[in-house]
Amino acid sequence: MDAIKVDFQTVESPRRVTILGSTGSVGCNTVDLIERNRDRYMVEALTAHSNVALLAEQARRLKPRKAVVAEERYYEALKTALWGSGVEAAAGTQAVIEAALMPADWVMAAIVGAAGLKPTLAAVRRGAVVALANKECLVSAGQLMMREVAAAGATLLPVDSEHSAIFQLFDFDQREGIEKIILTASGGPFRSLSLAEMESVTPAQAVKHPNWSMGAKISVDSATMMNKGLELIEAHHLFALPTERIEILVHPQSIVHSLVAYVDGSVLAHLGTPDMRTPIAYALGWPRRMDAPSARLDLAQLGTLSFEAPDFERFPALRLAREALRAGGGAPTVLNAANEVAVQAFLDGRIAFTHIANTVERVMAKSNFGLADSLDSVAATDGAARELTDGLI
Ligand code: NAD
Ligand code: MG
Repeated sequence: MDAIKVDFQTVESPRRVTILGSTGSVGCNTVDLIERNRDRYMVEALTAHSNVALLAEQARRLKPRKAVVAEERYYEALKTALWGSGVEAAAGTQAVIEAALMPADWVMAAIVGAAGLKPTLAAVRRGAVVALANKECLVSAGQLMMREVAAAGATLLPVDSEHSAIFQLFDFDQREGIEKIILTASGGPFRSLSLAEMESVTPAQAVKHPNWSMGAKISVDSATMMNKGLELIEAHHLFALPTERIEILVHPQSIVHSLVAYVDGSVLAHLGTPDMRTPIAYALGWPRRMDAPSARLDLAQLGTLSFEAPDFERFPALRLAREALRAGGGAPTVLNAANEVAVQAFLDGRIAFTHIANTVERVMAKSNFGLADSLDSVAATDGAARELTDGLI
């Protein structure tokens, strides 16, 4: 069965949308696109973790029915900031889930990390069209997510640029014609550094991605290349392909966003400048195309595109993700949880950059993985892995 093949349906304008994680990098890009097309969208809910000032500012402009801050202690601040706007304020993790349950046709899942799982699942369970940026929830609970998508008849539209590219190139009606998919990776800011040089890089250097402007966590993941490992697992679930048929190719310019290779030798590629508003617009307008203000691609000016094989020695995270996918069960849940904790420890200055993958590897070696086929088992496996990682750090 096709994992995310969906019926072409016409959604009447204006589309009712909710943005989970509206104050983040993907969230702000989504808000930007909606503001450029005000007549075509009505906003049901916006949610954020703690940035009340930005959330309230977005809410005053977009006029959602509700704005939600996950941190309960900011309720009064949000209520004050929204006073007189007509937008209802709410707070707490349960309120974020309730926002996902509001009757929006389309939900952007752009919370970072496994914290996004329950709200994303809530939107999936009521059969919404879910634009999925939050890759960690597919890595941590892929089996569960895909089962719930099928059961509820929900539609998952990948927002990650590579997966959006593959979604656009993948012939869902002729899966047997597909040999493999190829995920491109920029290689991040430390692509040419030796392991010894990587030992001393700082969080400020790690979050400075050469091509993309993104949140801190995914930027560090790009620097360790764990991001590509997470994307490998994400692709496995979205396109129902085994790890052997998902290749990783380093492409420093981030112009070719991914490729699909067919059995006749044809290879289809998706190109564009690196601007998340392009894949977000694809999902926001789907099934139609909508304008996005991304810079236009000028290949003559670029002149050269280059490609190289990934280096599994200097970027062990790639190997760890493949191993987790092969091991199955709760292994990807453990990989994701250990990585989230280790990345935060690096950002807080508690461990060196190279210790991120190192820590994940040690946690994987000490874990018995367990299961990840229900919310309870995912929570148990995820919680145990976080505890183990904390202990090791
Ligand atoms: P970000 O850190 O910029 O934003 C995260 C958002 O989630 C913010 O709105 C924040 O308030 C909210 N949030 C954080 N913790 C929360 C919690 N515990 N409860 C509720 N809300 C919480 O992150 P981002 O770069 O926008 O990335 C979001 C997701 O999209 C990630 O999973 C990332 O891997 C994925 N993604 C991002 C990009 C990108 O260009 N930034 C590209 C591809 C995929
Ligand atoms: Mg990506």
